[in-house]
Amino acid sequence: MKAILVGFALLCAGCERVPETAARVAPDADAPLLAEIRSIPAIDNHAHPVRPTVDGQAPDRDYDALPVDNLEPASDPVRTRPAAPELARARAQVTRGDPAKVLDQLGIGTMLANRVAMGSGLPPDRFLWVPYADALMYPLANDAMIHNSDRKAFFALEETLLKRYYSESGVAARPATLDEYLGKVVRATLERHKQGGAVAEKFEMAYLRPLDIGNPAKAEAEAAWAGRGPHKALQDYIFRFIAAECGRLGMAVHFHTGAGAGSYFDVAGSNPMLLEPLLDDASLRRTNFVFLHGGWPFERQATALLMKPNAYADFSAQNFFNYPGELARTIRAWLEYVPEHVLFATDAYPYSAEAGWEETGYVAAATGREALAIALTGMLRDGEITRARASELARMVLRDNARALYQLK
Ligand SMILES: [Zn+2]
Repeated sequence: MKAILVGFALLCAGCERVPETAARVAPDADAPLLAEIRSIPAIDNHAHPVRPTVDGQAPDRDYDALPVDNLEPASDPVRTRPAAPELARARAQVTRGDPAKVLDQLGIGTMLANRVAMGSGLPPDRFLWVPYADALMYPLANDAMIHNSDRKAFFALEETLLKRYYSESGVAARPATLDEYLGKVVRATLERHKQGGAVAEKFEMAYLRPLDIGNPAKAEAEAAWAGRGPHKALQDYIFRFIAAECGRLGMAVHFHTGAGAGSYFDVAGSNPMLLEPLLDDASLRRTNFVFLHGGWPFERQATALLMKPNAYADFSAQNFFNYPGELARTIRAWLEYVPEHVLFATDAYPYSAEAGWEETGYVAAATGREALAIALTGMLRDGEITRARASELARMVLRDNARALYQLK
């Protein structure tokens, strides 16, 4: 193997691209297992597909409640930079256009589409809706939470989305009481989402405030509603109301966990360990919580939370900015602990004209599959599992765990 790699190095002296085969061969992966993993149509737990542009219509902006294309500049991780060879390879492999055909090229059967609204163009037999619930948590003035230009842009977007939720709920102005707001705007919005086919509600809370959700008394929340107390108590109270409603309606709660976009992103505040009190709250045990992105760089801490009956993690985004070897170590640790709670996902996202959701999805899907194969191969070679169990674990991560979680056919 070393000789082959040296050969590539000589062959490639002076060229900047990683040779196609060197990156695709995944030397630490058992070849038949990798082939099997590549043949399984996946359920993608989290992604941002974009509707194809129709002539005369404005470009789609519903692919994220908080699009990250207008932030102050940050230093991008190496693997996500425009010149990354992985992206060049993806551009060569993926044909844009028909979203269902894009899924076919990515080996994805069903994609959970995290979007403000679905609109037309994303066929409902392939794309399942995950709308956003953050806006409902911030019904008062948010000036005190704005410390930089990124937050300013984010809260403006949440305030616009909250207006949309008011209007869709048929409520013209902020109700006099918190109870009225919870019933007529919050519950009404969640029920509308459920009616519209939503399988989960997504929180981008980590972009707006830390994930340290308290358990305030209703009186504290009502005081804040009346302008006589800290807004955090109100936010936390509303969040718990939403989480309980999601349990009642059979929708999961998705959290962005771990590092995020932008140079002001509060990484420490995104640690999924901050969510442990929610997982331990007996009154919320009907609600399933999903840590999107697996909480990286706290992914090892997140491992311990997977033993809670209602805690799940996916490895989306990690499979875009991390290399297969590093991701394989994470997946292996999760699979050795509670494999039933591990989900495949891409976080396919339109970052730029060159890196659309199609290409970032392709890189993430290919990397995720290679990493899964490397993780299972290591477990197989160390005598932890049989070959039959390796196949079974692959199907669970790629498809069956999500099927059970969202009660899909
Ligand atoms: Zn995302």
